[in-house]
Amino acid sequence: MSEHAGSFDCQACGACCAYFRVSFHWSEADDGPGGTVPVALTEPVGLHLRCMKGTGARPARCVALSGTVGQQVGCTIYPLRSSSCQELAPGDPKCLQARAHHGLPIQPD
Ligand code: SF4
Ligand code: SF4
Repeated sequence: MSEHAGSFDCQACGACCAYFRVSFHWSEADDGPGGTVPVALTEPVGLHLRCMKGTGARPARCVALSGTVGQQVGCTIYPLRSSSCQELAPGDPKCLQARAHHGLPIQPD
């Protein structure tokens, strides 16, 4: 989920936070220098990655996501979220894939 202005309103969506495995390099967790993502909200993926808890299996839903997908949502760790979360922009292919999975429109208003 991204704050960037786009075709879709992320705060009325959240589909990408409840579809993909949200993984990133382990050093983005806050048990390492410079990391920000609360490590307690993550779990290991192999040797070098971690993922947000709740996204490692289907049906996925990030533990940091509040609210109801497709209605009103929020990221409870927004300033601390991973690079993966920051890079997913509204309207990009992964966004559309997640929205389609949740039955949300994939054409902007
Ligand atoms: S799926 Fe797209 S519109 Fe929905 S929260 Fe993610 S980036 Fe925003
Ligand atoms: S950390 Fe926030 S932005 Fe990232 S998947 Fe979870 S709820 Fe979405």
